[in-house]
Amino acid sequence: MQQIIDRFISYVKIDTQSDPNSDTTPSTEKQWHLADLLVDELIRIGMEDVTVDDNAYIMATLPSNLDFEVPVIGFISHFDTSPDFSGTGVNPQVINDYDGGDIVLNVEEKIVLSPYYFDDLLHYKGQTLITTDGTTLLGADDKAGITEIITAMEYLVQHPEIKHGKIRVGFTPDEEIGRGAHKFDVEKFGADWAYTMDGSQVGELEYENFNAASAKVTIKGKSVHPGYAMGKMVNAISIANEFMWILPIEETPQNTTNRDGFFHIHHMQGTIEHAEFELIVRDHDRLHFEKRKQLLLDITEKLNALYNDCVQIKLKDQYYNMREKVEPVMHIVDLAKEAMQAVGVKPIIKPIRGGTDGSQLSFMGLPCPNIFAGGHNFHGKYEYVPVESMQKAVAVIVKICELLAEKSEGKT
Ligand SMILES: [Zn+2]
Repeated sequence: MQQIIDRFISYVKIDTQSDPNSDTTPSTEKQWHLADLLVDELIRIGMEDVTVDDNAYIMATLPSNLDFEVPVIGFISHFDTSPDFSGTGVNPQVINDYDGGDIVLNVEEKIVLSPYYFDDLLHYKGQTLITTDGTTLLGADDKAGITEIITAMEYLVQHPEIKHGKIRVGFTPDEEIGRGAHKFDVEKFGADWAYTMDGSQVGELEYENFNAASAKVTIKGKSVHPGYAMGKMVNAISIANEFMWILPIEETPQNTTNRDGFFHIHHMQGTIEHAEFELIVRDHDRLHFEKRKQLLLDITEKLNALYNDCVQIKLKDQYYNMREKVEPVMHIVDLAKEAMQAVGVKPIIKPIRGGTDGSQLSFMGLPCPNIFAGGHNFHGKYEYVPVESMQKAVAVIVKICELLAEKSEGKT
């Protein structure tokens, strides 16, 4: 256990926050600090063909130890952390034998991680938790995933009696700003399919995510003295309001769950002359997704007819539900499920209310479901990870490799 703790802590202490306002890859120079260390570590544990490209995408191979053919599979995680919360000076706290009570993260600032608010904590009574000191995020998202993949590969290197095919490992920068998959060389990776180790609670297995689009609406108004405005003023703020009021009021993030889609306005500003707002559109169902986008276009058209073409909309697809790419190869989900059950983890299969690198990779030709990495409360000071969950993830990775080899024997 100590080894996995030490490895994880050595990664989270390195600040790798990504930056959405940067155009470079990686978006921040500091992500190289961990990338360089990971390359060294992959070589040290005995991985072969360890490469890192100019954009800090890391790949490595664990060669097959069999003389028959087994599909090549990959495990992927990202080493950047969220720009939403500070990742500078992460000072992890290790709580042994968690008693199910409050954990004081920071005495001076009275920051407490409490099961009254975060009831998931109660699943982990008696386990070893790693938390923050209340001033930064932890970075279990997704350095837990990196820790698990490296630990599993090291275990397989040290246990040649466990038979497996060729395994590929991929670590990416900039996932948190939606660019983790952008420059991922699927062909070079050369796997038949892969798994991102980037889920939360132990047991999570996901192959469905949102279809996603973003929209920016701009309204041009006309300012006239209010006393003389009759028939002349065009108030961009009012028109923006009118647009928003036509959107279904119940279909917002705070009013929806499970498979319900939504519109989410997340930014607005306005004067009489100029108003603009930005929103995102999310839906698991492709048809409903298209209908939602159509509604935005219809509203624009309607308001333009009323107000002399003063509304402009820019609509952009962001990513799609990987389900349509994974369903034809469901055996890759079944394999992960079987591996979990074999190591005593109950699979929790549910649609993601977001996206993953795996959804983009799936559409780039690499089907890529998502497996738990174990952490909770990502992107903030209450982030924590039970060490036992990380150990389970390691066991699942090893078991997937082992089961796949068993299933492939005698097939060719
Ligand atoms: Zn993540």
